[in-house]
Amino acid sequence: MKTIRQQLINALMDRDMTALDLSQELGIREKEVYEHLPHIARSVASRGKKLIMMSPRCLKCGFIFKERTRFTRPGRCPRCRGTYIEAPAYRIEAARRKA
Ligand SMILES: [Zn+2]
Repeated sequence: MKTIRQQLINALMDRDMTALDLSQELGIREKEVYEHLPHIARSVASRGKKLIMMSPRCLKCGFIFKERTRFTRPGRCPRCRGTYIEAPAYRIEAARRKA
């Protein structure tokens, strides 16, 4: 049987997935997905791949969270203070390619 992390890695190979997508596909809680992501990032890095996060975007003013390094969804927009933030999508790619 494959571990949850292995299943998450497979699900993210060359495919954009949000934490919600992943939680539904694997039947785990969204919170659990966020807990696994930093470990997955390290794990794939040792195999020459990279876990990429698409920059989340504020759906109210369009602000893009370019500098974000944490994998969780931002709670609040620093520009308009809105809380309607798009869920970031993740994917695993070969490390050489730019996101
Ligand atoms: Zn905003």
